[in-house]
Amino acid sequence: MTADSPSPGRLDRALTSLCGLAVGDALGSQFFVPANYPLLKRRELPAGSWRWTDDTEMACSVVAVLAAHQRIDQDALARSFAEHHDFDRGYGPAVNRLLRLVREGSDWRELAAALFNGQGSWGNGAAMRIAPLGAWYADDPEQATHQAEISAYPTHQHREAVVGAMAVAAAAALAAGPGGPPSAEALLDGVIALVPKSAVGAGLRRARDMLDYGDAGTVAAVLGCGRRTSAHDTVPFALWSAARSLGDYETAFWTTAQVGGDVDTTCAIVGGVLAAGKAGTPPTEWVERTEILPEWVRAPV
Ligand SMILES: [Mg+2]
Repeated sequence: MTADSPSPGRLDRALTSLCGLAVGDALGSQFFVPANYPLLKRRELPAGSWRWTDDTEMACSVVAVLAAHQRIDQDALARSFAEHHDFDRGYGPAVNRLLRLVREGSDWRELAAALFNGQGSWGNGAAMRIAPLGAWYADDPEQATHQAEISAYPTHQHREAVVGAMAVAAAAALAAGPGGPPSAEALLDGVIALVPKSAVGAGLRRARDMLDYGDAGTVAAVLGCGRRTSAHDTVPFALWSAARSLGDYETAFWTTAQVGGDVDTTCAIVGGVLAAGKAGTPPTEWVERTEILPEWVRAPV
């Protein structure tokens, strides 16, 4: 197989993970509506259909670029983010502005580097969109972390945001590995070994130490659950929750959603990692009630 030839196995895995991500995002976002809080406590599904948010829209660009280039091409990724940017999908203000300027012809390199007084964004946006890339690289978790690192830069250049993306990609790659889903301990040990020293890494070590806690609320109070929307406040808890329920999408979803915080994003990460492994796909009814993915995810970019 040459670098440019299609790789249906990889693309199928990425699309399966993307579906799990979209369901987590769309259903998770329903619980920002206070009227739905009682449903969450009873683990009941909200009525109607569920619209996905920025997490899924950006993840579609990640998959489309992989399908077209067989790796992450940063310029193609930035272009796809900008072209498909829908203001009404719940993006943060900094990314809204950045993608508008890229669409108008500005250079993403300068814009992303200048965010937050030149520190770059440490938001969870690079991590929320990346699980399908991990599924794509299920045969090579190290390459998954490398490509995830590259994929972060068009929008998120702070070290924590980059490492957050690397960690989620590593988790999805390991969950999708040829031997079937690993144990919770093996998953987090594997991720920790693949990411550089950072606050995200420190949070993952704490998450590893808390795998025997039964109460997600306590774990979220220690690790954070995205209330500050930073990578280090989001990724350790999401991967704790994913590791605890590999192979059981419903349990993973409710456990993640019940603690609150940045629910669409924590559930998108968990859903993408779970569905990367064959045994962790979402229930059919949940998929059917989730807004359909856009056609362009399979089109050349
Ligand atoms: Mg969102």
